[in-house]
Amino acid sequence: MQVDVLCVGHASYDLIFSVPHHPTEDEKIFADSLISCGGGPAANAAVMVSRLGLKSAFAGYLGQDLYGDKHAQEFAEYDVNTQLIARGPSPTPLSTILVKPDGKRALINYKGDTQALPSNAVDFSSVKPKVILFDGHEPHLSVPLAEHARRDHIPSVLDAGSLHEGTLALINKVDYLVCSEKFARQFAGDVEAALTRLSETAPAVVVTLGEKGLLWRRGKKHGGAMPAFPVAAIDTTGAGDAFHGAFAAGVALDMEWLELLRYASAAGALCCTKIGARLGIPSREEHYTWLEQHKDLHV
Ligand code: ADP
Repeated sequence: MQVDVLCVGHASYDLIFSVPHHPTEDEKIFADSLISCGGGPAANAAVMVSRLGLKSAFAGYLGQDLYGDKHAQEFAEYDVNTQLIARGPSPTPLSTILVKPDGKRALINYKGDTQALPSNAVDFSSVKPKVILFDGHEPHLSVPLAEHARRDHIPSVLDAGSLHEGTLALINKVDYLVCSEKFARQFAGDVEAALTRLSETAPAVVVTLGEKGLLWRRGKKHGGAMPAFPVAAIDTTGAGDAFHGAFAAGVALDMEWLELLRYASAAGALCCTKIGARLGIPSREEHYTWLEQHKDLHV
């Protein structure tokens, strides 16, 4: 199986209710709208890659239940390869999100007894990816795969959203370490200190800073900042997932460094212009048009 980007990690299902206010005890309220769609950092990134016109595959877990079926069906509709998904009796992780008109959220996550997959749950021998993206979930699959990737000179990207065992185990095994501001602060107290320390473990480090854009470092000598693209943001959920997917796609396309950062930043920015992480993922046309219209920005 030839793919441009293999995304390994978390898949969930999101039920996003727009509500006038968050309910209190014994209160029954009506939602104004309901968006239901697949979620999860690596799963969203796989959809982003596919939307950009590249071949992607997702490896991770989905339950043999309604939400697992729905997510698998969505992957197929977005042309994401599903052969490396392990299905089982434990539930598909489900998020119920109640969004108020001011954008504030209340969340209920349910994953029942769902555990990280064991290392033999997915057979990667048939897949030949140009790039592998990890989100730090599924560490038993990811750590040996990252070690293989390094031996086989397959570039790898880590989306480090928060500091936990899974992300920590991968920071010195990937070529591109793309972390959130939250991860950077948890890791080293502040972003500059994190950039310095992380650039000793990974050849390229990016810290994304939401509407403030990003900072990057390559080795001891090279580093810089890139502002975010100006968009009318209405929901920033999923910006990071879109950014990471486009970043991995850009690596597969062998982009020059600053072009790669622009390519990923545009995907992150466009994702903020629609409600819902998955539904905010821009199409190839939207992304291309935006970059063309903003040719002179961040070059
Ligand atoms: P994460 O969700 O992983 O914390 P960020 O919120 O840092 O990720 O967003 C990733 C990237 O998406 C940013 O570096 C930026 O380029 C883009 N982005 C995020 N929020 C905005 C915004 N409000 N306006 C424009 N671009 C944004």
